[in-house]
Amino acid sequence: MMGTPKSETLRQIRRTLLDWYDRHRRPLPWRDNPDPYRVLVSEVMLQQTRAETVKPYFQRWIARFPTAEALAESDQEEVLGLWSGLGYYSRARNLHRTAMIVRDRHDGRIPDSVEALRKLPGIGEYTAGAVASIAFGRCEPAVDGNARRVLSRLFDLEAPTLDEFRQLAGALVADKRPGDFNQALMELGGRVCRPRSPDCESCPLRAVCLSRARDTVAFRPAPRTRGTIPIYVIGTAVITSAAGQTLLACRPDNGLLGGMWEYPGLETGDSEDPIDSACRAVRELFGDLPLRSWPEGGEPIDELADIGHVFSHRRHRYHAFGFHIGSEPVPDLSSGNWTEARWCSTEALAELPLSAAQRKLARIVAARC
Ligand code: SF4
Repeated sequence: MMGTPKSETLRQIRRTLLDWYDRHRRPLPWRDNPDPYRVLVSEVMLQQTRAETVKPYFQRWIARFPTAEALAESDQEEVLGLWSGLGYYSRARNLHRTAMIVRDRHDGRIPDSVEALRKLPGIGEYTAGAVASIAFGRCEPAVDGNARRVLSRLFDLEAPTLDEFRQLAGALVADKRPGDFNQALMELGGRVCRPRSPDCESCPLRAVCLSRARDTVAFRPAPRTRGTIPIYVIGTAVITSAAGQTLLACRPDNGLLGGMWEYPGLETGDSEDPIDSACRAVRELFGDLPLRSWPEGGEPIDELADIGHVFSHRRHRYHAFGFHIGSEPVPDLSSGNWTEARWCSTEALAELPLSAAQRKLARIVAARC
């Protein structure tokens, strides 16, 4: 167990880091006007996602939902549509539910304490600390992966526990400008104290950095041993009608990609090929309707695409096959794999919330038409 560093060291780190932040902080759209709702939206979007990626999503989101109330009044399909491509879609659903709770139980105002923030859907320790400190000036730590890396190196900690990080960050953050301090620590981790190539020569904390002094930077923090990421193969059915419309289906709210729309697909079982699970998806929706290959003249059932997508904890491989149905029958949703299905024109499809992989598949399908 590490001890708490001396208060003079902590003061020096705080002062140096805030000076650096004042001179070097990036102009980011959520920093212009850090009202609590905007801070909350930005912090949720920034979970697992780089600031550069978040910027355009944040601007579109705020233009469409400028307040928690506007978000609470919208429907989930539109919310997921605006989030489309940003990934980790449970964040969007939780933000939507949070807005409704804020409207109904908090008089439209985002709560200002860590305890109350943590009761909102999808808000963990980090996000609660970030919102409380940045939006309300509360003296609360906010330790993300970047901040953890800086702290490990600054204090030369090989494998600190979460409690040790909390203790250190809690001792470092001060009443004066806690939100700026937290952002400074994270920004230093993102831009200077990078995982593989830390720029120690231009780091404002180099004079007090223990791992730099001990030449252990490359070993801090100790690398994590990762397990193998499982691969799931999905047989996917691109079903078109004689009128040129394509069938899209909506996934149940719970679980991975909940509430998102997709070309219907099912995970391929042990003794199946992807074409078998794609045919199973078609049968679940339409029973034994006669099918033809698509596009015309292709193989008996034409393979349109093979797309990979990496989530944080699993990989998906979508094998997509084209099917053609003369009419546009009403799909049977009793299997529970989808909650809704629609025959869509290209324009209607563009409006639906699709994941990045499904959007890519849509582009391939459009190019084949
Ligand atoms: S001196 Fe190097 S290792 Fe230490 S905090 Fe700065 S960038 Fe990171």
